[in-house]
Amino acid sequence: MKTLQRTFSIIKPDAVAKNATGDILGMIQHAGFNILGMKMLWITKAQAEGFYAVHATRPFFESLTTFMSSGPIVVLALEKENAIADLRKLMGATDPAKAEHGTIRKKHAASIEANSVHGSDAEDTARFELSYFFAGYELTR
Ligand code: GDP
Repeated sequence: MKTLQRTFSIIKPDAVAKNATGDILGMIQHAGFNILGMKMLWITKAQAEGFYAVHATRPFFESLTTFMSSGPIVVLALEKENAIADLRKLMGATDPAKAEHGTIRKKHAASIEANSVHGSDAEDTARFELSYFFAGYELTR
């Protein structure tokens, strides 16, 4: 029996601004993910700070939260077998210069910060991140 796992993703402001949303959604669906929830938002800096609270002590926190609140984003609730690891693989390395061919970041990312896409890195962060942006009734199952 297949064990389905959920993960959370964001199409970041750089990718939405360059009209890459459709292409990135296509790559995600082509890789076998089901979309359980999706919405476009323009979050405030305070909302970005809440989302990235685990990075509060990192030197790039100020810049990252300014970037994440600089324009619209698309938030996604995704489901698939091995969803968390498979999405990280599809995203590619944080630094697009190090990302492998065929990954979203290799194709679309502009820099280590404006790197087009976010994906949860573990089950506990996926749960927190899904609940940060989605209410239960907003998911199809
Ligand atoms: P991810 O899991 O691959 O997204 O990477 P991290 O969890 O390490 O970092 C979160 C986000 O912070 C990244 O996706 C980037 O947008 C940003 N970031 C990471 N490292 C740097 C950095 O060295 N400089 C800047 N400006 N932003 C960074």
